[in-house]
This record gives sequence, C-alpha cells and structure tokens, in this order.
Amino acid sequence: MERVLSNEHQSFDEDASLRPQSLKEYIGQTQLKENLSIFIEAAKQRNEALDHVLLYGPPGLGKTTLSYILANEMGGNIKTTSGPSIEKSGDLAAILSTLEAGDVLFIDEIHRLPKQVEEILYPAMEDYCIDIVVGKDSASVRSIRLDLPPFTLVGATTRAGDLTAPLRDRFGIVSQLEFYTLEELMQILRRTARVMDTDIDEEAVLEIARRSRGTPRIANRLFRRVRDFAQVMNDGYISLEIAAMALDKLKVDHLGLDAVDHKYLKGIIERFKGGPVGLDALASSIGEETMTLEDVYEPYLLQIGFINRTPRGRVVTEKAYQHLGYDLREGLFV
Ligand code: ADP
Repeated sequence: MERVLSNEHQSFDEDASLRPQSLKEYIGQTQLKENLSIFIEAAKQRNEALDHVLLYGPPGLGKTTLSYILANEMGGNIKTTSGPSIEKSGDLAAILSTLEAGDVLFIDEIHRLPKQVEEILYPAMEDYCIDIVVGKDSASVRSIRLDLPPFTLVGATTRAGDLTAPLRDRFGIVSQLEFYTLEELMQILRRTARVMDTDIDEEAVLEIARRSRGTPRIANRLFRRVRDFAQVMNDGYISLEIAAMALDKLKVDHLGLDAVDHKYLKGIIERFKGGPVGLDALASSIGEETMTLEDVYEPYLLQIGFINRTPRGRVVTEKAYQHLGYDLREGLFV
C-alpha cells in the first residue's frame, strides 16, 4: 500500500491551477463562507481592512485557498510565508514593511513561529506598527517605531491548541475548517474535471469522492492519477471501471485509507490489543512521526469513528476491526 497523504503542500503550480478565486466558487464550508462574506462587506463599507483571521483544521481542507480568496474579495494583494521559514524578527519585519493598505499576509503553520518573531506580530496586529531595535552597543541602541498600513493577517494551522494565548487572542475571526461531505467533494471533482477538460462519468465522480477522506487536496490528487490511467487506457474518458481500477492500483481502500492508516490501526490491534495506547508508544512501534499521525491521519480516523481518544490513550473501535476484516471475537479478546 502506498502513502497518499502528506504534510507537504503539493507543488505550488499544481495546486494553484485548481484554486477557486472567489467565495462564490469556493465549495462547502457554508457557515464559514456566510460569516466571512458579512465581515468582508462590513469592512469594505467602513473602508477598513478585514479583521485578522485564524483558520485551523487538517491539511488540504482549503485554508491557503481561502486566504487568496480573502485578498481577492478585499481587493488587495497577498504575501505568503510560513512559521518555520521565518527565523529572525528582521525577516518578518522585512515582509511586513512591504505591505500596502488592504493587503493580506498569509502565514501558514503559524504555530511554528519562533517566540521572538511572534512578539513582533503583536503590535503589528493590534496597532499596525512594529518596533525595530537599531544600534550596536548600549550607548547607541534604541528602538524605532515603523507604522504599517492597515492589513489583514491570515494565519493557518493544523493545531490551534499550540498557539500561544497572546497570539490567538489577537485574531478577531477564528474558524475551524470541516471535512467536506460526499456531495461537496463531488462538486469539487466536477469542477476539476472541467478545468482540466476531462470527460468523467458521474459514478466515477462518486467513486473518487468516496475515497478522498473528506479532503479536496486528496480528491484532486486522486483525480490526476485516475486521469493518467484513463488517458493511457481509455482514450481519456474516466468511466467508473477505469476509476475503480486506478484507485485499487493506487492502493487507496474504499474509505480512502492508505498504507499508514492501515499500519496505525493494525499496530494498535496487534501490538496493543486494541488500545488504549499512548500516541508516542504507537508512533515509535510503527516507525512514524507522532506529529504526522496526530495532524494528518488521526483527524479523519476520528471523524469516521475508527478510533477514540481516551485519557489513557488511543483505542480502536469495532467499526475499524470490521473494516479491516478482523474476526471481532478473536480480535477483541486475544
Ligand atoms: P490547506 O491550506 O488547508 O492545506 P489548500 O488551500 O492548499 O489547503 O487546498 C488544497 C487544494 O484543494 C487547493 O489547491 C484547491 O484546489 C482545493 N480546494 C480546497 N478547498 C476547496 C474548495 N472549498 N473548493 C474547491 N477546491 C478546493
């Protein structure tokens, strides 16, 4: 079985070509979209920048896409960066000083900003200014205040709980992105097929959507691979048969679970008698990183009711045993 998920974004161009440009085109996340359109409208009427927005949720659900849309809707430009890529306060100050009124600054993985860099953000967010320290020795050292134009910070994170309280409190809008329904994923796939000028059968759309674990990025990634099979084997037409065959070859099971999900669930069942087991112990026993399991794999396994988090650790549910084909009596009571 292969690994179809990852923490990484796809290459920028690949994702960018499929990004919807406006809130209207952005599928799903209905409540969030409704709220955002009100906040955007209100900010525009007052001729102000949109309040700072924190978006959190598993990778691939559309946080980056939404930040581009917010910039578009506000009529500003977007500058993008990420927590781990800003090492020094000066790096962030340099980015902030290029902003113009109404721009969006998007910081991905904002929970990974170094502490001293984060502190630059507080006055920038609150008062649109930064304090820069200049001078080399105690006699000449002083701080210069630099005013910034009104801008909107959009922060994205897979772990809202890891944000410090002072940073979290400075976001006026804090929203969680939800997994997408089957119907929403089907709409996304139909749009992708249109953009990529590919013919696809409705049943094939459903089959790919079913295996996309509620995540647009995975839906699009599976679509691309299925399209390859269709191109070589079926004159480019994606029929149900071609889609099912391709997805089986990609070793994505009927619920979209891949090799790591299987290793995770089997690890708990076979090495820890179904749990409870602490995440660190499980991660080292199956040779995966704790953070990857927690951020990328567990949210969906929780969502479909295959695992529970208890105070004593992770537990696999009956549903997962059944899906993996274990004899429940044997599996549960060894
Ligand atoms: P995140 O930043 O949460 O990891 P992205 O914004 O990079 O996720 O989304 C990954 C890809 O999924 C995008 O390039 C886009 O093609 C697609 N996508 C995400 N959300 C939507 C949506 N609501 N409607 C249509 N396509 C979407």
